[in-house]
Order: sequence, then structure tokens, then C-alpha cells
Amino acid sequence: MRVYNTLTRTKEEFVPRQADAVSMYVCGPTVYNHVHIGNARTFLSFDVIRRYLEWRGFDVSFVRNITDVDDKIINRANEEQVSAPEVAAKYTSAFHHAMERLGVKPPTQEPYATQTIGEMIEMVERLIEKGSAYESGGDVYFAVRSFDGYGKLSGRDVDDMRSGARVEVGDLKRDPLDFALWKSAKPGEPSWPSPWGDGRPGWHLECSVMSTGHLGETFDIHGGGVDLVFPHHENEIAQAEADTGVPFARYWLHGGMLQVNSEKMSKSLGNFMLLKDVLDTYPASTIRLFMLQTHYRSPLDYSEERLASAVTSYERIETAVRNARAVAEDPATDGATRGSTAEESALIETLAAAPEDARKRFIEAMDDDFNTAGAIAVVFDEVRMINSFADRLGGDPSIGHVGLLTAIVDTVLDLLRVLGITFAEGEDGYPIEVVDLASQLAGYAGGDTREAVDSLLASREAARTDKNWALADAVRDGLAGLGFTVEDTAQGARVIYRGQN
Ligand code: AMP
Ligand code: ZN
Repeated sequence: MRVYNTLTRTKEEFVPRQADAVSMYVCGPTVYNHVHIGNARTFLSFDVIRRYLEWRGFDVSFVRNITDVDDKIINRANEEQVSAPEVAAKYTSAFHHAMERLGVKPPTQEPYATQTIGEMIEMVERLIEKGSAYESGGDVYFAVRSFDGYGKLSGRDVDDMRSGARVEVGDLKRDPLDFALWKSAKPGEPSWPSPWGDGRPGWHLECSVMSTGHLGETFDIHGGGVDLVFPHHENEIAQAEADTGVPFARYWLHGGMLQVNSEKMSKSLGNFMLLKDVLDTYPASTIRLFMLQTHYRSPLDYSEERLASAVTSYERIETAVRNARAVAEDPATDGATRGSTAEESALIETLAAAPEDARKRFIEAMDDDFNTAGAIAVVFDEVRMINSFADRLGGDPSIGHVGLLTAIVDTVLDLLRVLGITFAEGEDGYPIEVVDLASQLAGYAGGDTREAVDSLLASREAARTDKNWALADAVRDGLAGLGFTVEDTAQGARVIYRGQN
């Protein structure tokens, strides 16, 4: 597997620290507003990277934080005439809901900045002790010049940067390049006691503390949008490496920006669409298809036409699957050409090789720096094959191709699920794969999707009573992988299905 590493500016062989596990950290949202679909693109890209790594058998620790203290949150609180924690709580829950609708899996750990203040103060104390930071008027600054590697991620030279910067009158910094680790409190702002007086942490500090706190001093992947390379990620490295003396993240992956007319989509430019609003019009799977048809590192222009064309593409897959299933269920489909001509044998041979072939090409594409566009192209090749074979061969079970056709359809669905793109198939709109899951985990022997879900919930309930957490989790995760969220209510557990939005 090869990944492009911003740190080395090359595509490198990906070798995690442990052979079968990957530790990754992705900068989460600052919860002062609803996320826009630019933010969503970055979260989606890393969701797919994580899902792919899991599918390839890695045990992935995926940490994504919540920045719930920040100037923007405080400003918003003043505008809305509520407290800053209220603003943060409101938009954190909105963020969770929007991510769930988009089919982004929850992180394995989700630290909140405000719940990690103690650890942040400790890191600042250590940095001061080591001479990497200094206190000034109740603030604490990181002394950029004290850290040799500064600029290595963004490819900047400290002296070049220095010549463009000036110390402002009244500035508490010794050097204009220095940045705040701790900011003294202004009246009415959220603050915490510290050795330097009441104050709050700087944004960059949060991520160094929350990532190393959960993943260790050195971990595999650090991700975020390319807009965060400088200064945010550069500063994360400086803080963490000055503190620990060992390398921080090993592979730095950065997602390209979602743009509008070639300009970055951003709150400040006002050219944004909120994810929740786009989800009201376009099902999650079509938004995913639209975004994943471009490589995660490339810029992508938002356009209604391309979203609409993703809807058409999605429907093409859906129709192919439906037709193929119909052929499989009705062996006497009209228009079938039967027999064992040489041409047909050749077709059947291709058909038989297709699932393995598709899987191989899908892996090749995704192993090449998560080339989802290439992976989706493989899927569409299979869809074309499904259509042409479903038409031409009809459904004569005597030549065994019904099973072959079904195998290709299952492969297509399987591969798309790795990208988080799902299809509703059962009569109740539930995906047919839930029947397989129920047969594996709940001993269910029937073929009904509704019953399959019920049997899974019953098996989870029993597992919880027996304290068999592994099974209970496996059921919940298996259902989540198919687009179900399990909710525990007073009346017992139930599922919410969001595969089709
Ligand atoms: P923020 O809440 O502003 O810190 O942003 C959360 C995430 O969204 C970060 O990883 C940003 O890099 C990312 N992001 C912000 N704007 C865009 C955009 N237009 N396209 C893609 N990602 C973005
Ligand atoms: Zn960060």
C-alpha cells in the first residue's frame, strides 16, 4: 500500500508501526456552526481511508476530536445570547447527527478539548521547563526558534517567514513567529485555572495533547484538510516533538479543498452549503459517490450538475442490481439465449473470473494512495458486465450462471460498502446483506430482512445479558456497517436505517 506523505512530499510504502494495527488522528470540527459540505468532504475522505484499512484487516484506532473552546464559539455565543458551552453542545450534537446521516463511522475515541485541559496544562509546563515555551503576561507562547524542525511539514524556512513578520506594539511574544499555547482569560470568557492564571488553551495545543494522549507519542497517520498544514499541523509537530523528543505522526495525509468556482468553500467567504441541507435533497450515498469520484487530495468543485449526475450513476447501479436479482430469482426469464456455444462458454468464463478480478483491481486502486476514483471505475466495469450478462444469458440455472451473476452483484455491493455506499434491497428497504449477517451472528436461517434484524437485536440482547460484549459489539458493528444504528430505548433496542439517507 502506498500513500502520499505531505512530510516527505512523496508517495511512500505504508508500513504501520504494528503489522496489524493502524493508529490515526484526524482534526475534528470547531463546533460553532453546522458543518458545510467542504468540511464534510474531509471527514468523508478519512472515513473511507479508515473503512478501507479496516477492510484490509487492520485494527484501526481512529481518534477525532471536538474543539469545543475557541474564539469562534465565544463570538457565536455572544451573537446567539447563550453561553459558549451551550453553543458547543448544540453544534456537537448537530455534527454527530450530520455525520451519521452521511454514513461517517463514529471515531473509536472522540476527545473533547474542554475535558483535556489538565493534560494540556501539563504539556505546557513541560515545554516551559524544556525551554521551548515561555510565559508572558498570563499567556504562554511556544518559542518557534527553539525547535529545529520548524517548517518541515509545510516546507517553509524560518528565516523567510521571519522577514515577512513584525512584532506588533504591545505584543507579548518575543518573536512574531511564536504562537500561543495558553491564552489568559478575558472577562466573560470560558476559562480554567492554571499556573499562569485563568485562561484557556490554544487550538494547536489541543490536537498535540489529544492525539498523543490516545495514540501514544508516535502514531501512524495524521489527517486533515490541506488548509491545516500551516500553521496548525506545523505547530502540532513542534509542540509534540519538543515535548517528547520522538517523531510525532509518521504519515501526514491531507485532503484537497471543496471549492465553489475554484475558490475554497468557507464560512468566511459565505460560499458554503450546509451538509444537513444538502442531505435533505441528496441521499448520503449519492453525495459520497459524487465526492469519491475525485481523488481525496485533488481540489473538487461543488456543482449541482455533478451531484445530479452522481444520482444517475447511483441509479444505474441500483437498476443493474435489481435486474440481476430478478434474473437470479426467475430462471425462466424471457429472451435468454441458451445452450453451450463457444461464445457463451467464453462469456461464462469471464463471468466466473469477474468477482476475483474486480476485487483485485479495486485493491490495486485503493492501495495506490486511496484512489477511490479508480475503485469506482472498477465498480462501473462490473455494472456494465452485470447488465450485459443479465440481458444475454437470462437465467438458465443449468449452465450455472445464475450463481455467477449473483456473485458479481454481491461483489459490487461489497466493494461499494467499503466506500460507505449502500443500497436498500429488501422489501422494507433494508439491505439484503443483513440476512447473511443474521445467519452468521444470530443463527438466523430464513430470508427475510425484517426478521433478520429482529433476530440480530435479540441475539445482541442475549449477549448483553451473558456479558458477551464481543458478540454484542459485533452485532452492533455489523449492523452499523450495513447502515443501521442501534438505539436502546425504554421499550428495548430498535434500529434506525440510514443507508438510503
Ligand atoms: P474547521 O472546523 O474549520 O477546523 O474544519 C474542519 C475540517 O474541515 C478541517 O479538517 C478542515 O481542513 C476541513 N475543511 C474546511 N474547509 C474545507 C473545504 N472547503 N474543503 C475541504 N475540507 C475543508
Ligand atoms: Zn488539529
